[in-house]
Amino acid sequence: DELSNKIAAGEVVERPASVVKELVENAIDANSTVIEIELEEAGLSKIRILDNGDGIASEDCLTAFKRHATSKIKTEQDLFRIRTLGFRGEALPSIASVSMLELKTSTGEEAGTHLKLRGGEIVHHELTSSRKGTELVIENLFFNTPARLKYMKTVNTELGNVTDVVNRLAMSHPEVSIRLMHQGRQLLYTNGSGDVRQVLAAIYGMAVAKKMIPINVQSLDYEVNGYVALPEITRASRNYMSTIINGRFVKNYGLLKAVQQGYHTLLPIGRFPIVFLTITMDPLLVDVNVHPAKLEVRLSKEAELFELIEQGVKAAFKKQQL
Ligand code: ADP
Ligand code: MG
Repeated sequence: DELSNKIAAGEVVERPASVVKELVENAIDANSTVIEIELEEAGLSKIRILDNGDGIASEDCLTAFKRHATSKIKTEQDLFRIRTLGFRGEALPSIASVSMLELKTSTGEEAGTHLKLRGGEIVHHELTSSRKGTELVIENLFFNTPARLKYMKTVNTELGNVTDVVNRLAMSHPEVSIRLMHQGRQLLYTNGSGDVRQVLAAIYGMAVAKKMIPINVQSLDYEVNGYVALPEITRASRNYMSTIINGRFVKNYGLLKAVQQGYHTLLPIGRFPIVFLTITMDPLLVDVNVHPAKLEVRLSKEAELFELIEQGVKAAFKKQQL
């Protein structure tokens, strides 16, 4: 019901950045190759997300707004081999319950659907003709949860959070073209070529991207690919170290430490490298089912992975004769 959706919203949608994350992940799960994100006031007044993915069939549109109605998990087995970014079926009902939401979607094979919800209540529902894909507009986020609204920071801070989220998604999905616009100004554009260097250049600038060297190593259970910046360019925080496991951006202190150990004595004290690592493994070895925000993961055979990363970074530098 509406109350439990609102309670779940507290967990899943904390701020505009969490809404953007959930909606872009949905677009990626739906096989989109182009995703456009437009924000007004960092998303507090408006978030518009347009994708060219599979769309939602008209008979599934209402279900998509019911809690725990996911199309992505069909058996208990699936829960242990999660290959999609979403799997809880909580985002759409949660977001809808705390905003004014408009959905236009079509599979391209039949009439599309146009829905409007206000605080989770359907106020408009019709069939329309529309192109294949999905458009979601979220307005007046938290209009009916004043306590949550009060908790929002400045537009700049919220925008910083959104940018972080979109940058991470763009890095983990270089095969998807992602554009982020804020009040008519373009903040990020990736061309979807699949070349992660292009994404790194779009985010960190060409000068930095040019100073990142490739790392590619594998062990029995893991494959690690990506780029590590030369030790001459460092940053004062760990925020520039990105780790992606099976297409999902994750936070794991052990992974970051392994990278730093790979740099060995090359890093000045208190400085951190710019790093981008994608780790591929059997989904059975990673538990993403830790928290709804889904950034934390539990890994089996951690030691093997950490060792592989440390050695991989060392080998990358050796190749460059550093
Ligand atoms: P989850 O992603 O965990 O399945 P959500 O609440 O985020 O749950 O979405 C509910 C369902 O709505 C998804 O399982 C999917 O079938 C559908 N859906 C949501 N967004 C899109 C989209 N952009 N394109 C296609 N289908 C979508
Ligand atoms: Mg989802």
